[in-house]
Amino acid sequence: MKNIIIFGAPGSGKGTYSDEIVNRYGMGHISTGDVLRGEIKNGTELGKIAQGYIDNGQLIPDELMINILAKTYDELPAGKGVIFDGFPRTIAQAEALKVMLAERGHDMGIMVELVVDEETLMARLLNRAIEQGRADDNEETIKKRFAVYHSQTAPLSEWFEKEGMRNVFTWKGDKDLMLSEIFALLDTLK
Ligand code: ATP
Ligand code: MG
Repeated sequence: MKNIIIFGAPGSGKGTYSDEIVNRYGMGHISTGDVLRGEIKNGTELGKIAQGYIDNGQLIPDELMINILAKTYDELPAGKGVIFDGFPRTIAQAEALKVMLAERGHDMGIMVELVVDEETLMARLLNRAIEQGRADDNEETIKKRFAVYHSQTAPLSEWFEKEGMRNVFTWKGDKDLMLSEIFALLDTLK
C-alpha cells in the first residue's frame, strides 16, 4: 500500500479510521499523539517536555516532532506503507516529511482529509473525556486545540492540494458511509 496521511481537526476520527484502514490493508500506523502519550506514561524526558504543550492544547515544537517522527518511521518494517495519523500538523512538518521520505526513496502517497462540523467534534471529544479520560479533552483545552488547528494546521489543506494529494471526505452523520467512501478510494491504490 502507498503511504497515507490522515488529516483533520481534533476529534475528526483520524485514529478510528486509521485502525480500520490498517485492518483492511495491513500497513504500518504512526499516531504521533499516541507516541507522545506513551512517552508521558513512561515518564521519559521527552514525555515531560511534551506534557506541558499537550495540557495547554499547543503543538510540540516542529524540530522535536520531526525527529520523533523519523525515528518512529525507521522502526517500522519497510515496504508495507504507513498511515500517518496526527502528522504533519504544520507546513514545516509537511516539508520535512516530504524530504525525510525522499531521502529514503519513498513518497508521501495520498492525503485523506476528514471534514466534520465543530459541534460534532466538540460532542465527540467531551464524550471521549468520559470514556477515555484524556487530560486534554476538557472544554477549555479543546477550544485551544481548535484555535491551533485553524491557525497552524488547516492551512496545510492548500499545501496538499498543491501537491495533488488531497482527497476530502465530509461527515454526513454515518460512520459506515464515511468508511465505505474512504475504502472506495484506497481500493483503487492497492
Ligand atoms: P484526535 O486524536 O481526536 O484526532 P487530536 O488531533 O487533538 O485529536 P492527537 O493527535 O492525539 O489528538 O494529539 C494530541 C496532542 O499531541 C496535540 O494536541 C499536540 O499537543 C500533540 N501532537 C500530536 N501530534 C503532533 C504534531 N504532529 N505536532 C505537534 N504536536 C503534536
Ligand atoms: Mg488521535
